[in-house]
Amino acid sequence: MHAPTGLDPKAAAALTRRITLLSVATAGVLVVIKGGVWLISGSVALLASAADSGLDLIASLVTFYAVRYAQAPPDAEHRFGHGKAEAFASLTQAGLVFASAALIGQEAIVH
Ligand SMILES: [Zn+2]
Repeated sequence: MHAPTGLDPKAAAALTRRITLLSVATAGVLVVIKGGVWLISGSVALLASAADSGLDLIASLVTFYAVRYAQAPPDAEHRFGHGKAEAFASLTQAGLVFASAALIGQEAIVH
């Protein structure tokens, strides 16, 4: 978040927004491709992979909105700015990873 990138804060913020947009686009393309191939092939492995990419897409969207919210200037309700939104996004991602790990563990035990 505060790594010495050599960029001024405005350029760094713009770069962060662009990267999160790329992340959403990449995950979206993967969901569409994997979902499409699953529909054609009926492969369960591809369905699982598409579901995994779907979770990535949700995580990417959370990050996409979080970095934009975090970059908003301080206002009456948030006098210290909106930077904490990034911590919330990280927590959400950790939750998603934990949820998928739990699901995989449950599936492994059931089978
Ligand atoms: Zn606010």
